[in-house]
Amino acid sequence: MAHCKMSLRPIKTRFAPSPTGLLHLGNIRTALFNYLLARQARGIFLLRLEDTDAMRGHEKYSRALEQDLRWLGLNWDEGPEAGGQHGPYAQSERGPIYKEYFASLESRALAYPCFCSEHELAIARKTALAASRPPRYTGKCRALSTQDIQARFARGEPATLRFRVEEGRTVEFEDKVRGPQIFRTDEIGDFIVRRSDGTPAFFFCNAIDDALMGVTLVVRGEDHLTNTPRQILLLKSLGLPVPAYAHIALVVGPDGAPLSKRTGSISIEELRTAGFLPPAISNYLARLGHTYDANAFMDMDALAKNFNVSRLHRAPARYDETQLLYCQREAIMCLPSAVLREWMGGEIKKLVPDDRFDAFIDAVRGNIFFPTDALRWAQIAFTDKLVVSQAAREVIAAAGRDFFEAANRALEKHNTDFKAITDTVKQARSVSGKSLFQPLRAALTGELDGPEIASLLPLIGVDRARKRLSIN
Ligand code: GLU
Repeated sequence: MAHCKMSLRPIKTRFAPSPTGLLHLGNIRTALFNYLLARQARGIFLLRLEDTDAMRGHEKYSRALEQDLRWLGLNWDEGPEAGGQHGPYAQSERGPIYKEYFASLESRALAYPCFCSEHELAIARKTALAASRPPRYTGKCRALSTQDIQARFARGEPATLRFRVEEGRTVEFEDKVRGPQIFRTDEIGDFIVRRSDGTPAFFFCNAIDDALMGVTLVVRGEDHLTNTPRQILLLKSLGLPVPAYAHIALVVGPDGAPLSKRTGSISIEELRTAGFLPPAISNYLARLGHTYDANAFMDMDALAKNFNVSRLHRAPARYDETQLLYCQREAIMCLPSAVLREWMGGEIKKLVPDDRFDAFIDAVRGNIFFPTDALRWAQIAFTDKLVVSQAAREVIAAAGRDFFEAANRALEKHNTDFKAITDTVKQARSVSGKSLFQPLRAALTGELDGPEIASLLPLIGVDRARKRLSIN
């Protein structure tokens, strides 16, 4: 029996960062969306480093971004280290491939050398704008004769390579977020694909690589939208496949302005150092400019399964730190103790006995955001050191010595059974509600807020509790 040939290409998405700095929330959101889409379709998520030879210090940033992606669980199926059939996956190593395509464009007269200087081009742009014409290239070098070209090269004149754009046409494509797009070639004009120093233009390599690497869907920031018609023209002229595109709205600060350090352009590295949990970040970002039906915290599988391109917003996504903290809290509530234990770090492990760790986590998980918060509660529960806040001192003083004597008697009788202790003190001292609970919390923890005392007291233990309740 003849086999049915599958004509559908498996979905392949990619993240193609330029390693010029540390990744921040905006960049990593693009990576996350691409990752989720690939995972949802059981497709391939590819990583490509858009480094060029001219970039300085990119190795450091390349390693850093790989570390950030791994830390967030955005493991790529194809790319640096993972390997694959379409490498190399760093543009700095793909020079010979670009050369081939330049040669192909030149030999078929799809591109031509342009000798116009920066200065000339700037004047032409200004003139066009003053006359309310689109500031496209005038076409001055479009029809130079072969002799002319050779003579100018012989004189050592520098030239860029320009792609020839057919006039009077439109480039149309369906953007998966922004809907149908139409661009007039008359507004695009012939564009530079290779600079005069021989380096390829960004969008040239970017398009060639997407095609050669078999990328089927490009999800990227809308700042690249105007590159897309040029890339489509290029790919079609070279007979290369054109991927589908989804241009996502950018992330802005709460004030609507581009992200700044204060408003969310914090690097992933900084977030990691501060103690943010990877699932908190992925849950937050998967909802930044994208809507799920449910607000509940989800693991990566569920985030992927329920992700929907048609639910990506067109309006800019606003970074909101409160929401990020909310996701951090959700992650802490949902993650297994073993994960939180690792997250809390070595200092806490030294303070909390192994057999009390689960109880400690259950006691504090609703009251912490970061490992530093957990450390404070570990010190309160498992060391004799107690810092008593001014507010707590006042509550203790107001309750008075007789109250604490009753509390201590109840402790001797009921051990660390907090319910029984409070019932006893309530009867003995005729106090209830806040007047009963607050002085006990204040004396036992030095604070007026925090985890349930019923869960903390067994960790604090009778000896330490007795000392803390012995108020003179
Ligand atoms: N290297 C480009 C950037 O980081 C990639 C753009 C794209 O995703 O196509 O902005």
